Amino acid sequence: MAVRISDIEGTLALGGLVDAAALGEIADAFVRAHGVGLAVLDAGGFALVERRVGASPIDALAAAFPRGAEGLAETHEAIRTAPLEAGIARVDCFTGLRYLVRPIAIGPRSIGRVILGPYVPAGTSGLPPELTAAAPALDAATAEALLARVKRLDEAQATPLVDLLAATVTTLASRAPVSSGLLLRAAESLGPLSHELRSPLTTILGYADMLLEGVLGPLAGEQREAVATMLEQSESLLFTLNALLDLASAAARPTPLARAPTHISELVVEAMEAVAAQARRKGVTLRAEVDPALPRLAVDRKRLRDCLVQLLANAVKFNRAGGLAAVEVRRAQGDGDWLELSVVDGGIGIPPEELERIFDPFYQVDRTAVRIHSGAGLGLALVRAHVDAHGGTIAVESRAGHGSRFTVRLPWLPG
Ligand code: ADP
Repeated sequence: MAVRISDIEGTLALGGLVDAAALGEIADAFVRAHGVGLAVLDAGGFALVERRVGASPIDALAAAFPRGAEGLAETHEAIRTAPLEAGIARVDCFTGLRYLVRPIAIGPRSIGRVILGPYVPAGTSGLPPELTAAAPALDAATAEALLARVKRLDEAQATPLVDLLAATVTTLASRAPVSSGLLLRAAESLGPLSHELRSPLTTILGYADMLLEGVLGPLAGEQREAVATMLEQSESLLFTLNALLDLASAAARPTPLARAPTHISELVVEAMEAVAAQARRKGVTLRAEVDPALPRLAVDRKRLRDCLVQLLANAVKFNRAGGLAAVEVRRAQGDGDWLELSVVDGGIGIPPEELERIFDPFYQVDRTAVRIHSGAGLGLALVRAHVDAHGGTIAVESRAGHGSRFTVRLPWLPG
């Protein structure tokens, strides 16, 4: 999976500019003050905040009818896409509910839209004919009672409210420190989504693994291959997602290191376990050489482990079938004492002119559309961020076609 920067900038910009908690507070205050629902969407139609007030039961009732469900989908699409050149768009749902949509712009650039609603236009009475046509068996008394619960507004009330909402969100977005950049925006937008993204992926992984292990019955040759590919791709997606979230949250909220006395050999074992399945599938042998005399050292366990996992995962990913990926850990002297960790592979290597750039976020040597290796170009950026936080360095030696050696040096701090 390749994340294109343009995708992130185009669709997630508003999410990165406004603080999610502040937006939530504003939304709640608005709902309390005016009794009407609202939503804020980014330029890609993703809802950054949504408060539906009173309208859900009538929508649920209508959705039970096939034409009702269709009509609701049309309304949602219109809310997301209605052209806003003229300033405000009015979206009328067949249920009798109305929404006002207004753009949020910073300078000439539209970065999202606010939605006021649903509300019932003042002056309407009874059930709208479109509703009874779409849902003929609807119980009229129930539907009317549900509609009566939704806030009634006339246009002279609703228009200033949607203006106010747009102005508030625009102010919030323009006050944000724009310098925080791409990663911060990605962090704030992806943060609330991470659980939604991670948990289905984990389920997919679990089932694919069970299938492959034969727990759910034997698989024939081609079925096995298909499931193995599914497993590999889902693992890589999860890996990329975790890297993006980690990197993004590190950029958004730099947290101090949690140094604790650590047996480095334990981290090496954990990292090897983390990539073992990937290595087995690719036929890559893992090996570790850890100086047995190493004392416990004060490092941030999680971050250093993540570094090792990332470097080892690359050593496997960019390897050849039957190749070797090894971790070497020793104490290095000269210019002070250092903990030196090297991850070595005999894989495809990296051309010399690329060596400087591979640590940049989103940078990948093979940027062709048909690239065979998955990933988003975030792993090494994350490793470098963790190593920097430790006051260490990372270096790479590589020969195209022969393999690579990544060497991390951390200040020697006995724990
Ligand atoms: P990703 O692996 O997700 O593409 P990384 O930041 O981990 O992102 O690596 C960036 C790029 O550096 C990779 O796309 C690859 O081109 C190159 N690279 C990293 N590790 C290795 C390695 N061990 N062997 C060859 N190329 C590598």
